[in-house]
Amino acid sequence: MSLNSHKRDLGNCTYCPKLCRFCCPAAEAEHSETVTPWAKMSLVEMVRAGRLEACDEVGEVFYHCFACLHCRTHCKHENDVPAALLSARNMVLTGGGEPAGVSSFLGKFYDTANPWGIDLSAEYKKLVDKRYFVPEAQAVLFSGCDAIKNGNDNLKKTFELMELIGVDYLAAFDGTDLCCGMPLWQAGDREGFKAHAKKMVGSLSSYRTIVCPCPTCVYALKTLYEEVDLKISAEIVHMTEFLGPIIKNTKPQRRVSGSFVFHDPCYLGRYLEKTNLPREILASVLEEELSELVWEGQDAACCGGGGLVKHVLPEIAEQAAVLRMDQLKSSGANSVATACPGCIEKLGSVADALEVVDLIEILYLAYQK
Ligand code: SF4
Ligand code: SF4
Repeated sequence: MSLNSHKRDLGNCTYCPKLCRFCCPAAEAEHSETVTPWAKMSLVEMVRAGRLEACDEVGEVFYHCFACLHCRTHCKHENDVPAALLSARNMVLTGGGEPAGVSSFLGKFYDTANPWGIDLSAEYKKLVDKRYFVPEAQAVLFSGCDAIKNGNDNLKKTFELMELIGVDYLAAFDGTDLCCGMPLWQAGDREGFKAHAKKMVGSLSSYRTIVCPCPTCVYALKTLYEEVDLKISAEIVHMTEFLGPIIKNTKPQRRVSGSFVFHDPCYLGRYLEKTNLPREILASVLEEELSELVWEGQDAACCGGGGLVKHVLPEIAEQAAVLRMDQLKSSGANSVATACPGCIEKLGSVADALEVVDLIEILYLAYQK
């Protein structure tokens, strides 16, 4: 997309008195006016209008965004700031002026087909028992790269939970590319994203249902692939969408004790607009009511794991995670439940963090015999 396609949003932001400034995790984490939504959009607008050259210094600013979409919650015009910044990144990248951290990140992705630069297939096979790989399966779990990188036993528990609740038709995805390609999109590498997506369409098209624990994968596979004129014919759902109706009709063995607060992942809450569903699922298996926050649902702050920030500006991502953890602690709960492997990793990495658990772990405890 050209910068001109964002002309309306860019104009709105340029003349706005920074009404969403207070909720931008980049501006809050960096204590910087340069990275407020208003300032980033004003820079893009000046470049679009030819009043400013997209030099290295300017281009770098476009990467200071978690793509969390929180600014839109408070924008009267529902401006899509991250979309304009992605087009700006694409322009920077096409001109060869991307920051060094982005170039080396892309090199790593192209070498290994994932953002972590590791042999993801080998790690995946260590985490998932071979009996869950069923060649003729119609429904698969596409774990995404973060769930594998985390290396915890959540994938194992996911398949065991399925057995406990009588789901015998969900197999493990058996392809070799295990990242949806979202990091390429976030880098502004539209061509690279499209090429990666093409491969993924080839390996995912034989299924009827694809279940993802990562809401970012759902958004990429379902929505962003269509933006580059590709389509996966399968139904693509987040784990909570898949489990919701099943859990409703399956009595748990017990209710799980402890006080929990729910952290809404940006892609589940704001992009896929699922804020009630995970709460309903948790309410059906928890002993205590979920603690609630001011900053939740459409107003939940990003965990710091969004966008490309954690890969190319890790200290800023870390600081955003600390700020979000402070909010979660203010709920008075002892544990944080969430439904995204990226959030688990980022929030869990904060020193003196509350315990951070995946919704799957709670369900596993509730249904375990
Ligand atoms: S996104 Fe909306 S609220 Fe935020 S600066 Fe732009 S116009 Fe203002
Ligand atoms: S998407 Fe999030 S990080 Fe990016 S400008 Fe908006 S509020 Fe800030």
